[in-house]
Amino acid sequence: MRDFLNTRAHDLKQGGIRQFFDKAKNYTDVINLGIGEPDFVTPRPIIDAAYDALLAGHTRYTSNAGDITVRTQVSTYLAGYDIQADPATEILMTCGGMEAIALTLLCTVSAGDEVLIQDPQWVNYKAQIEFAGGTPVPIPVYERNAFSIKAADIEKHITPKAKILILNSPNNPTGAVLSDADLIEIAALAEKHDLLVISDEVYCELLYDGFKHRSIASVASMKNRTVVVNSFSKTFAMTGWRLGFAAAPAPIINKMVVLQENMVSCAPAPSQFAGKFALEAFCGVREMREQYAKRRDLIVAGLNMIPGITCAKPSGSFYVFPNISGLHMTSEKFANALLENAGVVCVPGSAFGKHGEGYLRLAYANSETNIACAIDRISAYVKCR
Ligand code: PLP
Repeated sequence: MRDFLNTRAHDLKQGGIRQFFDKAKNYTDVINLGIGEPDFVTPRPIIDAAYDALLAGHTRYTSNAGDITVRTQVSTYLAGYDIQADPATEILMTCGGMEAIALTLLCTVSAGDEVLIQDPQWVNYKAQIEFAGGTPVPIPVYERNAFSIKAADIEKHITPKAKILILNSPNNPTGAVLSDADLIEIAALAEKHDLLVISDEVYCELLYDGFKHRSIASVASMKNRTVVVNSFSKTFAMTGWRLGFAAAPAPIINKMVVLQENMVSCAPAPSQFAGKFALEAFCGVREMREQYAKRRDLIVAGLNMIPGITCAKPSGSFYVFPNISGLHMTSEKFANALLENAGVVCVPGSAFGKHGEGYLRLAYANSETNIACAIDRISAYVKCR
């Protein structure tokens, strides 16, 4: 029988993060600091809003772009960040931020186009770019710059084939947050080289120490070349609801809506109405952010007590990215050793790109008790290995 899979499917590989989780399933009594998912339950009023929406008859397809009242609420939310997006033509509700990124890439990448992404970076961009026929071009980010992507480093990697730049601030896996100055320089670069920017802002509500989110789409002149991607997953602990959105110039959204029509029709209706309520009421966000901030301080202090590990305090998302080079082990070896000997799951930095080597990603979307216990276990392992 012939091989029915096409080349694109053959080239698809399971990401390093998932591989690790699959391995962790074989162990008992593990503390999972690997998964990038809030441990909180969706705030009850949001659940009630979904229930009410179902009872009110929102059990059917919505328009492909999403219910217009929901998009209008998204538009109001974005206006709070100085992003102007017309609900009728410039906003699309999607099945999570992931689908928003996929639709964007599928509608904009042509064969051979280069898409610039930072390294280390959340793994899914690379797979999605390749599936769309593009070539991911890694831009190294450095601990000495607090892992912020710099315009000068991006420019070094721009060729005539460069078409898209993906930004992700606050960042997964490093927790880095782009400063206004960096955003403005990157915006000028995007204009100079006529790049489309995909700005993945799914962690934009998880900022600490008084930081306020700023989107590159709010920089004058960027609106026409930016696709803002956001999601309800992290902000409202709604990963399972599969709801996100994209805001972009009308010609791009227009084609993404047609692709959505041909793929999933629309984002789930009850999730959309729950999302609308979530944006109106903003319930639970401040409380969850406060918890994350405490956990971040706990994990950073704990890691810095372990000989051979140093950990800077990131300003956003719910990840820390400690430097483990003092342990003289590859990040994969160390992460495996932690799983096997300490019962702690974390992700090797190398899973996020070549420049992630020498680091580890730990998610502090876990209880203070579990974080403290994980630190004790890691510390005990490092001291007696
Ligand atoms: N972007 C980043 C940087 C992420 O870390 C994730 C999930 O981990 C997503 C997008 C997609 O999240 P979702 O599809 O649940 O909205």
